[in-house]
Amino acid sequence: MPIPLHKNYINGKWTPSSSGKTFESLNPATEQPIGKFQLSTAEDINDAVEAAEKAFNSWSSTPAPKRARIILKAAELLRREKQRLGKLVTTEMGKVLPEALGDVQEAIDMAEYAAGEGRRLFGRTTPSELQDKFCMSVRMPLGVVGLITPWNFPIAIPSWKILPALVCGNTVVFKPASDTPLCAIEFVKILEKAGVPKGVLNLITGSGSEVGGAIVKHKSVRAISFTGHRDTGEWIMKNAGLKKVGLELGGKNGIIVMPDADMQLAVDGIIWGGFGTAGQRCTAASRVIVNEKINPVLERKLKAGAESLRLGSGLLKTTDVGPLINKNAAEKTHKYTEIGIEEGAKLLTGGDKPKGKGFFYKPTIFTDVASDMRIAQEEIFGPVVSLIQVSSIDEAIDVVNSIEYGLSSAIYTNDIRNAFLAIQKIETGITYINASTIGAEVHLPFGGVKATGGHKEAGWAAIEEFSDEKAVYIDYSGRLQKAQID
Ligand code: NDP
Repeated sequence: MPIPLHKNYINGKWTPSSSGKTFESLNPATEQPIGKFQLSTAEDINDAVEAAEKAFNSWSSTPAPKRARIILKAAELLRREKQRLGKLVTTEMGKVLPEALGDVQEAIDMAEYAAGEGRRLFGRTTPSELQDKFCMSVRMPLGVVGLITPWNFPIAIPSWKILPALVCGNTVVFKPASDTPLCAIEFVKILEKAGVPKGVLNLITGSGSEVGGAIVKHKSVRAISFTGHRDTGEWIMKNAGLKKVGLELGGKNGIIVMPDADMQLAVDGIIWGGFGTAGQRCTAASRVIVNEKINPVLERKLKAGAESLRLGSGLLKTTDVGPLINKNAAEKTHKYTEIGIEEGAKLLTGGDKPKGKGFFYKPTIFTDVASDMRIAQEEIFGPVVSLIQVSSIDEAIDVVNSIEYGLSSAIYTNDIRNAFLAIQKIETGITYINASTIGAEVHLPFGGVKATGGHKEAGWAAIEEFSDEKAVYIDYSGRLQKAQID
C-alpha cells in the first residue's frame, strides 16, 4: 500500500512545500512508515507568516467570546474523535493507549479552559493619582506567534500553545516535531473543521534547524513559544532577537521518600512517574532520593515493580510500557546505562534492549548512585531511574536541588513539616505531596525554574504568555493635568 502524503496548511489551504521534498514518520513499535510529510523551507515559512499577518486584523478584531466559540466547538470535535486520535497518538508516538487518550483529553480540557477565557481576558482598574482621570489595563494580542513543539505530547502540547494563543487574538505559525507530524496535522484539521478562519492558523512541517530556525529569526513573528531540549531553547534565546520568548525545557525530576511515607504509595508513584510514557516526559521521575533506613525495602519493591511491566505495542491491552520515540532515543538511553556502570552505580534491573523490532528499552533502575554522577544530573528521557540514599530531609532537599534543571519534584511523607519544607525549599516550578512528579492539570501554570527555562504556560499563565497588558489612562477633567507635577 502506498504511504499517504500530507501537506502544509497555509492560508486555509493544504499546500505542498516549495522544496518538492518529503520525509517519513515511523511507528516506533514496528519501525514502519505511517506517512510522508513536507520537508519545508524558509520560503514556506515566509508564506505562512504572510498569511498570518494578513489574517491578524480581522481575527484580533473578532470579539473574544466569538473566537472562544470556535475553540469550544474544537473541544466538542476532539471529544467526538477521542478514540481515533488516541490510537493515532499511540501509533505515531508509541505511548500506551490509555496515556494516548489522556494526551487527547488534555487538549479537550485546554480547549474548554481557553474557551472560558474568551469571556474573561481580564484587565484591571486602579485609581488615578489625579482627579477626573480613570486608569485601567486591557489585554492586547501580540500579533503573529511562532509555536514549536516536541513529540512526547503530540496533541496536548500543541493545544497548550495554539488554543490560548488563538483566544487571545493572535495568529499562528505552528511547527510540530518531525517525529509526530501526523498528530499535529489531525489536530489542525479539527480546528479547521471547528471554523478557524483561513490564515489564522498555519502549519509547516520540516526540520528544526531549517523551518524552526526560520520562524525564530523571522522579523514579522512577534513571539515564540517553544517546548523542547535545553540546547535548542538556548539557541532560540540567542537567535530570537527582541521577540517575546517562552521556553519549556528539560527536567531531572526527583522524588523524596521519607521513612514515614506510605511505602506502597511511593512505589506506585515511582513506577508510574519513572516508566510511564517510557520515561519520556519532561516531568518524569528520574531520581529517587530515599532515606537510607528504608532503602533496602524500597529497592526490593521497585525491582519487583519494574520487572512486572510488560513491553509491547501500546495498542495492546496487555502492554504497560511502549517503545521509545526513535532509534537515537533507544541508543542514547543505552549509552546512559553504560555511563552509569562506568561511574560505579549498581544496575538493579533492566539495562538493555529486548530483541526484535521496535525502539523498546527495558525499565532500568540504578542503585548506589551518587548525586554528582552523570546519570543523576543529565536528562536521559528514557525509562531509567536512579536511587540516591540520604540521611535527612535537609540532605534530601539539597540533592533534589543539586541539578541545573528545576521542573517537577515530589515528596512522600506523612509528616506535615517535611511536606512544607519541600514546598518551601525545593527549587522547581511544580511540587507534589504524596503524588508522583507527573500529572499536571491544564488550569494551573506549568513550567520550571533554572535551566528548565523560567517561563510558564497553561492556566492563567497562558493568557500572560499570549497577550500584552496595555495601560490605558482616560482623563475626563477637560484640562491639562500633569502626573507627578500637579
Ligand atoms: P528538540 O529541542 O530537539 O525539538 C523540539 C522541537 O524543536 C521540534 O519541533 C524540533 O524540530 C524543533 N527544533 C529543533 N531545532 C530547532 C531550532 N534550531 N530552531 C527551532 N526549532 C528547532 O527536543 P526533543 O525533540 O528532543 O524533545 C524532548 C525535549 O523536550 C526534552 O528535553 C524534554 O525535557 C523537553 N520537554 C519539555 C517540556 C516542558 O514543558 N518543560 C515538556 C515536554 C518535553 P524537529 O523535530 O524537526 O527536530
